Amino acid sequence: MPILEVEHLKKYFPVTSGVFLRQTGAVHAVDDVSFTVARGETLGIVGESGCGKTTLGRCIMGLHSPTSGKIRLEGESMGKLSVSQRKAFAAKVQMIFQDPYESLNPRQTVRQILEEKFRIHGRPAATLEDDVHGVLNQVNLDADCLLKYPHEFSGGQRQRIGIARAVSMSPELIVCDEPVSALDVSVQSKILNLLLDLQENLGLTYLFISHDLSVVRHMSDRIIVMYLGKIMELADAETLYAAPRHPYTQALLDAIPVPDPTVTLGTLPLKGEVPSVENPPKGCRFNTRCPHATDICFEKSPELKPSQEDALHLTACHLFYA
Ligand code: SF4
Repeated sequence: MPILEVEHLKKYFPVTSGVFLRQTGAVHAVDDVSFTVARGETLGIVGESGCGKTTLGRCIMGLHSPTSGKIRLEGESMGKLSVSQRKAFAAKVQMIFQDPYESLNPRQTVRQILEEKFRIHGRPAATLEDDVHGVLNQVNLDADCLLKYPHEFSGGQRQRIGIARAVSMSPELIVCDEPVSALDVSVQSKILNLLLDLQENLGLTYLFISHDLSVVRHMSDRIIVMYLGKIMELADAETLYAAPRHPYTQALLDAIPVPDPTVTLGTLPLKGEVPSVENPPKGCRFNTRCPHATDICFEKSPELKPSQEDALHLTACHLFYA
């Protein structure tokens, strides 16, 4: 059984205007998205800003209520949880945020931050000291940082504290939302390797959200490519990079800088702006930027379907299923 199942998930945010804040539209941040995550797997979610990947992660965390659709963790639907079950769920699903500084209370020392987390989830006071030291050790931080405040650390160290807070609950699933994009390049690889080590040692499952295809490739077993709230392509990481099918994926790959200027990974340059999610294009959402668009692309939204050669490689494009 998959650890996480997402079925036809939609998250629309109302757009209001006027004195009476009448709803005049909706931002279709996540629009009919379905996928599963296997235990121990890393599923990468990649796409440009505004594609819905962070909203999707926040729905899974329970930070946003879905407009419709289902989210199941270990077979249990999130929508049907009682208050006490929600607390247990919150311990099972943790999040690592993009900006560790914003996610840590600046008035608390590292000891207070970690102890609070253990206390909220009912860990006995007698084991708090060992719990805190144990989790610091897991993220390679020394005990002398316990009395310091978040502002006294570098960005990489702060992210280690954020990771310590996430793994402290022995979670089943961690949603990593752009966990290294706010860090210096020199620090990024250390944090990514820490996440990989923790996954191996603790058997963690990651939903890894990033706009950076190189980072996602390094971390992921499978990758979802999102655009304007919809999944454009889903495949295992090797296949996606070796044989991207969707024109949007090809364009994203083409935009990755490579050391040799004569080499390109994709075939199409990505041109134009991302359309508004409040008023997405009719038909295929990529039709305003796609060089292959034909009449059907402006009329009918393509379904996400498996390719004939590989049932696990899904693409939403009329080019392949006309
Ligand atoms: Fe391009 Fe049409 Fe495929 Fe959309 S469905 S990606 S517009 S060819």
